[in-house]
Amino acid sequence: HRAGLVKLKGRAAISRDGVHVRLLANIELPEDARIAEEAGAEGVGLYRTEFLYMNRKELPSEEEQYEAYARIVSAVSGTITIRTLDLGADKQVDSGRSHGPLPTNPALGLRAIRLCLKEPELFRVQVRALLRASAHGRVQIMLPMISNLQEYRQACAMIEAAREELRAEGRPMAEDVPIGAMIEVPAAAIAAPMLARHARFFSIGTNDLIQYTLAIDRVDDEVNYLYDPLHPAVLHLIRHTIESGRRAGIPVAMCGEMAGDPRFTRLLLGLGLTDFSMHPASVLEVKQIVVESDIGRLRAAVSAALDCLDPQELRDRLAAL
Ligand code: PEP
Ligand code: MG
Repeated sequence: HRAGLVKLKGRAAISRDGVHVRLLANIELPEDARIAEEAGAEGVGLYRTEFLYMNRKELPSEEEQYEAYARIVSAVSGTITIRTLDLGADKQVDSGRSHGPLPTNPALGLRAIRLCLKEPELFRVQVRALLRASAHGRVQIMLPMISNLQEYRQACAMIEAAREELRAEGRPMAEDVPIGAMIEVPAAAIAAPMLARHARFFSIGTNDLIQYTLAIDRVDDEVNYLYDPLHPAVLHLIRHTIESGRRAGIPVAMCGEMAGDPRFTRLLLGLGLTDFSMHPASVLEVKQIVVESDIGRLRAAVSAALDCLDPQELRDRLAAL
C-alpha cells in the first residue's frame, strides 16, 4: 500500500473531474520544512510558532525569531502560512505571560490573538520577525482564535505599524503578505460572511471549532467521547465558512486534524474544500483519495446528506460516499 502511495509523491492532487486540490503540511519545527517537502506537500498551510516560546524562561528575541522563520521560509518552495502566537489554554509556556492567578476556563480565556492584543510588545516582536522573513519566500500571516472583526482589524493595524517601522529602517520585506483569520470559534464561523469582506483567506481550525461548538474540553478525557467531527452543527459551520469564503472570493483552507483524516476526505471535498493542511505523514493517503474522487458527484451527495434530519442516517450516508 505504502509503495503504491509513494508513486503519488511528485504528482499534483487533481481529482478525476479535474479539480486541483492543494495538500499542504502542518509543521512545528525547522526540520519539518524538509519533511513536508519530502511528503509531497505543495506548501505549508500551518506553521505553529509556539514551539519557539516553549520550555524556556526568556522570550525569544526578534533576531532569534527572524533567523528561525527565515530558515523555514527559505526551505519551503510553495506558500507558507505562519500562524502568530497561539499561547494559552492547551499551549502553556513559562515565558510570555505575566504571572497572575490561573484562569478557571483557560480555553475561554486570554489565549492566542487575545493575549497578543493585550500584550502588544509580544506581538510586535513576532510580527517584525515574520515580516522580515517574508523577504525569503511566499509568506502569509494567520491570526488564531479570531472571534470578531474588531480583533482582526486591530491585529492588521499592528502589523501595518510594524511594516512602517521596518520600511523606515530600510529592511527588506515582501511587498504583499496576505493576512488571514483562523475560523475556530463558532462566532467567527457564523459571522464568516462579514469577516470574509476583510480577511484575505480563512483557515478552519477544526480542533478548536469542534471543542467550542460542542462545549467539550479537547484535553479532558472524561468528555472526549462527545468529540464528534460529524456532529451536524459542526458540519453546518464548516459548510457555511467554505461558502462564505467562496462568495467573497477568498481561499478557504482547513488545518485542523479533520483535514488530514482520510475518513473525512470525501466529505470535505463534497463540501467544496480545496485546500487541506495536515500532518506530513497523511499527505499521500489523502492524495490517493483525491485522485480517485469525482468531486462533482461528491458535492451532490454531501449536499443531499446534510439535509438528513436523522443523525444516524446522516452518518450512514457520509460513510457511503
Ligand atoms: C485547530 O484548532 O484546529 C488548529 C489547527 O489549531 P491548534 O490545534 O494548534 O489549536
Ligand atoms: Mg486552534
